[in-house]
Amino acid sequence: MSTPFPASRRPDAIVVGGGLHGSSTAFHLAARHGLKALLLEQTYPGRHASGVNAGGVRTLGRILPEIPLSLASMEIWHRLPELIGDDCGFVHSAQVKVAESEADMETLRARDVELRALGYTHEKLLDAETLRELLPAVSRHVVGGAVAENDGCAIPFRAVTGFRRAAERLGAEVRSNWRVERIERTGEMWRVSGPAGTAEAPLLAICAGAWGDKISAQVGEPVPLNPEAPMLLITERITPFLAPVVGTTSRRLSFKQYPNGTVLIGGGYRGIADRDSERTILKFSGLATNVRVVCELFPLMKTVRIVRAWSGIEGVMPDAIPVLGPSLKAPDLVYGFGYSSHGFQMGPIGGRIVADLVATGKTNLPIEAFSIGRFA
Ligand SMILES: Cc1cc2nc3c(=O)[nH]c(=O)nc-3n(C[C@H](O)[C@H](O)[C@H](O)COP(=O)(O)OP(=O)(O)OC[C@H]3O[C@@H](n4cnc5c(N)ncnc54)[C@H](O)[C@@H]3O)c2cc1C
Repeated sequence: MSTPFPASRRPDAIVVGGGLHGSSTAFHLAARHGLKALLLEQTYPGRHASGVNAGGVRTLGRILPEIPLSLASMEIWHRLPELIGDDCGFVHSAQVKVAESEADMETLRARDVELRALGYTHEKLLDAETLRELLPAVSRHVVGGAVAENDGCAIPFRAVTGFRRAAERLGAEVRSNWRVERIERTGEMWRVSGPAGTAEAPLLAICAGAWGDKISAQVGEPVPLNPEAPMLLITERITPFLAPVVGTTSRRLSFKQYPNGTVLIGGGYRGIADRDSERTILKFSGLATNVRVVCELFPLMKTVRIVRAWSGIEGVMPDAIPVLGPSLKAPDLVYGFGYSSHGFQMGPIGGRIVADLVATGKTNLPIEAFSIGRFA
């Protein structure tokens, strides 16, 4: 890591949003380009999706344009201690998708053919017997699955904090309770303002998660982002029975057991998101469906008590991929938001890409599919 900047140095770039993507951007701006970031966060870093998610670090089942980015991000997850001095609670464990019927297995086979034709080998098919070796407690109706062996999970709030602290050690300034309400270009500078004051820098990155569209609209680039509230449940501690993170092929489930024995249950069932008040409301019907799927797949879960449920606010795009790339209307402005419920794993690389674009206008990864121009 390079030497910190003097505290008096003015920021080279403003980063709006203190989630994993904003924190990773601030870190990479300093570490790769020697640029000082001023990171502005409306509440506190990690308050929203990045700090409250399921912690799944998954390349398995990625939408095709995301695969090169997701694989590059995975490499970073595996070497976080040397990069930022913190492992962010990352644990290497397989992610498995189970097939509950021949139709599910056919879906997984078709994907396997597609991936191999594109040269990807990070996902492998599993027959019923091998799957049961990985998941001894899975229901007998499961007929096979797919696995990504290099995946894992991490501790969300710790990951945000790890990147934020590493950025601060390199001289980035982080301000909490600093809501950006307006952005304006004046001459060669970006000026941002809100109830806490104004700030200026030549470069601007918008990593504002479910609020990103409010800012892009100000430079004439509105996008159809939908704020949603994915929900999660956690159980009491039980005897360890599950090492991999588990998902399903045709139903919604994300399921894992922590080393302390608690089991995290998610799968994308939505509560109600109110991004103006920054609050969510749980929908118990969705939680009940989520639990039913779990009990069908892992019958031993029928007697386990749920301890807590919560949800977070996530920006979801209609095509389920983020807005990642330069503004097409304004100079020195880069977007990285709308990660559509699977952006935690992408945080390390998303921030690196935004930082590279802010600093040099270029990235070595394919990002055309994520252009804000697709909504023009
Ligand atoms: C319950 C749940 C479970 C999930 N599980 C997974 C999972 O297992 N794996 C996975 O890969 N992904 C998962 N996700 C998705 C993942 O959490 C998000 O895609 C990712 O964290 C997005 O990061 P971000 O930095 O873009 O957004 P955020 O973490 O939302 O950060 C954006 C920040 O910007 C701030 N902000 C917004 N507007 C302004 C403004 N005007 N001024 C100042 N600050 C502003 C917000 O306060 C917020 O802190 C899950 C999401 C949820 C909600």
